[in-house]
Amino acid sequence: MSNKTKYSIDSKGFYGEFGGAYVPEILYKCVTDLQQAYLPIIESDSFQQEYRALLRDYVGRPSPLYEARRMSEKYGCRLFLKREDLNHTGAHKINNTIGQILMARKMGKTRIIAETGAGQHGVATATVCALMGMRCEVFMGKTDVERQKTNVERMKMLGAEVHPVTTGNMTLSDACSEAIRDWCCHPQDTYYLVGSTMGPHPYPDIVARMQSIISEEIKQQLMEKTGRDYPDCLVACVGGGSNAAGTIYHYIDDERVRIVLAEAGGSGIDTDRTAATMHRGTVGIIHGARSLVMQTADGQIEEAFTISAGLDYPGIGPMHADLAQRGRTEILAVNDDEAIYAGYELTRMEGIIPAIESAHAIAALSKISFSKDDIVVLTVSGRGDKDVQTYLNNKQMAKEYGQF
Ligand SMILES: *Cc1c(COP(=O)(O)O)cnc(C)c1O
Repeated sequence: MSNKTKYSIDSKGFYGEFGGAYVPEILYKCVTDLQQAYLPIIESDSFQQEYRALLRDYVGRPSPLYEARRMSEKYGCRLFLKREDLNHTGAHKINNTIGQILMARKMGKTRIIAETGAGQHGVATATVCALMGMRCEVFMGKTDVERQKTNVERMKMLGAEVHPVTTGNMTLSDACSEAIRDWCCHPQDTYYLVGSTMGPHPYPDIVARMQSIISEEIKQQLMEKTGRDYPDCLVACVGGGSNAAGTIYHYIDDERVRIVLAEAGGSGIDTDRTAATMHRGTVGIIHGARSLVMQTADGQIEEAFTISAGLDYPGIGPMHADLAQRGRTEILAVNDDEAIYAGYELTRMEGIIPAIESAHAIAALSKISFSKDDIVVLTVSGRGDKDVQTYLNNKQMAKEYGQF
């Protein structure tokens, strides 16, 4: 696990030229404490025992690896779906929050803060705080509070306090800034539970390790189902990058495995309504890390647009910026209409309603050429119950795009 390889994070928290910890002076101690504490905690037997027991008995892992026969036939490959949609709370995010809450407790923290966009990470955080009896405060842009009512209600029911953020565009990026500001005021007792492979070092590495259970299971499950433990191709969607990081973690250095990641093109990468950070971003600092950022010429962060609330982020984790820059991953932009269409397609062909985020990964399949024996693993990062209204509202968009 700690063997350094070509794509590993270095001791200062950099993946190539991306990453690091660009934080205000007041957080310096918090961040360096965490940098020193996280690996010994994650690698300890007591952590691993508790983490794995909760993943099994509370989250419901291992999540199934399902061979999707009708979709396989359509795309001319052997397509396996990694079913993160079947986890407790409906997505991969709980893998990370379970791990980090255990870490926070080991570090003696008593108050948990988190940022959330669509509310999925807020719900996953509020869930584990209820489980551990810890205080939970969630920062969420006021715009998102209004458009994601059900998740706000779930968080409140779970006992969390939700703070609507009224700065900037009042969306995810502003919620992140506000969470960092709160952390500055309460560095002693507060643990900032980051929801994706972003933020200052060590967060991207922490979150990637917490999600790496996904590829650990894929290895074992592929071995059982196909007689070999690696696929020809991995496919996942990327917002901040956590489900993708988990999907590829144990295959990054295995060059036999092609990696295709789908980011949200919104209305198109040539329009100003896009969230395709790896196509459109330039190098900058966002939320404590050097990465690719959608920004104006003078460095103001630009708002991201996509139909998918969970991919609506103007940055990208440093690990992914590096992998893309070095050509280890192929990045495809998937537009709103393609994603909606793909969501209907999976629903009608396999009886699985995916989250719109995950539908971006499905849509990538039509942009990749396969040979018939190729083994392809695609992570369905979450379920689409939260998105049914959006699918129905945009059915026309999908119909214009293709038949189903
Ligand atoms: C939050 C979310 C994403 C995007 O986040 P990543 O950190 O890039 O994985 C993708 N899918 C679902 C279902 C989500 O809830």
